[in-house]
Amino acid sequence: MSVQTYTYDGPEGLHSLIGQVMAALGYVGGREIRDVGAAVTVRDDCGHLYLSCTFQDGGDPWFSEAHLLEGVRERDALKDCLLHWHSRFSGHGLGPWGTLIGVRPTKLVHHLFDQGFTDDQAEKSLQTSYHVAPGTARDLVAMARLQRPYVTRRGRKLALYVGIPYCPSHCLYCSFPSRLIGREGEAALTAFRDAVLADLDDLADLCRTYDLEVTSLYVGGGTPTCLPLPVLEAMMTRLARNFPEAREWTVEAGRPDTATPDMLAMLRKAGVDRISVNPQTLQQHLLDVLGRRHSVEAIYTMYENCRKLGFSVINMDFIAGLPGQTVADMQENMEIVCKLHPENVTIHTLALKKRAPLFHHELRASIPPAEETGRMVRLCQSILTGSGYVPYYMYRQKYMAASFANIGYALPGSVSAYNIEMMEERQSVLAAGPGGATKILCRDGHTLEKVYMPKDVDAYVQALAEKMAQRRRLCAIIYGKEDV
Ligand code: SF4
Repeated sequence: MSVQTYTYDGPEGLHSLIGQVMAALGYVGGREIRDVGAAVTVRDDCGHLYLSCTFQDGGDPWFSEAHLLEGVRERDALKDCLLHWHSRFSGHGLGPWGTLIGVRPTKLVHHLFDQGFTDDQAEKSLQTSYHVAPGTARDLVAMARLQRPYVTRRGRKLALYVGIPYCPSHCLYCSFPSRLIGREGEAALTAFRDAVLADLDDLADLCRTYDLEVTSLYVGGGTPTCLPLPVLEAMMTRLARNFPEAREWTVEAGRPDTATPDMLAMLRKAGVDRISVNPQTLQQHLLDVLGRRHSVEAIYTMYENCRKLGFSVINMDFIAGLPGQTVADMQENMEIVCKLHPENVTIHTLALKKRAPLFHHELRASIPPAEETGRMVRLCQSILTGSGYVPYYMYRQKYMAASFANIGYALPGSVSAYNIEMMEERQSVLAAGPGGATKILCRDGHTLEKVYMPKDVDAYVQALAEKMAQRRRLCAIIYGKEDV
């Protein structure tokens, strides 16, 4: 897979839009000379914007320039120009997503529903206004319709996320900035635990003060289950005590090498009812090169243990497009999934980011071409939907020219409300732990005000008091009696 970089020269205010468009086209921003595939320039000449771009793939450079006319929406025009130029340069047309570049396309469908569009009208609008392919438009509308009960009339009900940024080892493809649990000292872990507990108590106090109800909990990472059992148990006990009204409670136990029977039993006893068992793929030679450090057998054993303990929903994550992975591997994965029959299956596509060790690794050369990854994705879709799974949430993948999406599938009656709520951004989400982003929905019903916790564990512990005060102030403004 070729991951190319782009350069940008122009007004700073347009940088993030250019970044969004180029990410949707599969380009990573950067200054490296290696692999530069596009150079974008925006020139502001006395209020007139001129856009130019050179695409390059080893052959002759392909250059286009346009004057973004006044009177039309310049940002939309800029986006459309780049997308259309790239489609001509690549010869592949606009692709299934047309000119949609956002990572959450179903959000747009919900906006159409809000305005009274029927399903047919929404489908047509996606096709005519955004050039979305008919099949994609139909799937998006069907998914948004399924999500609708979860995104409307939420009132003061909200979700809570807890981030645990530790892992047992770094997987080759992953860019998540986790710490290795084996290298963490006892004092640092104690400080981390105490900070998270204080964070959770502060959130519980906010809920009491403003009459907020946490209806879904999600403990993610990293790999929460790699913490020493008593440390995670203290957090789980506090969550159960502080937020007893939660109806859905997920914990990511992504690595079977960490999810011992005792650990799983503790989670179940605390009240966790949805658990993520994440094999990513089920071929031993692939797990080994990816640095997963566990056997395929361990995944089956963990799955069995989860079943015996009575978790009501088991989710399994897979990645399409791993280095060395073939369509036959993915076929084997899906055949095994159909036998195991987890309630939820999530299919991701590999999006290579610069922070992932794989980005500079020799195995990058064995990432399958986009067409082959596309075949894997379609195969998963066909096998899963043929076995009764329904796609219920999705987000688009950046940095993939083929514009893949990550899609969550569920057996009827087992969708994760948290995943829908998070993705559609129609309700407030509280967050504890490093990297947590508390997002409070403003009184206009659309804008989200955010408070971010630092990603680094030490920085989080240091900044916690200040961040909690910031979060309290935001809640006072939005939920209290203060004017906005
Ligand atoms: S894939 Fe999961 S377990 Fe592996 S490094 Fe990333 S967060 Fe940790």
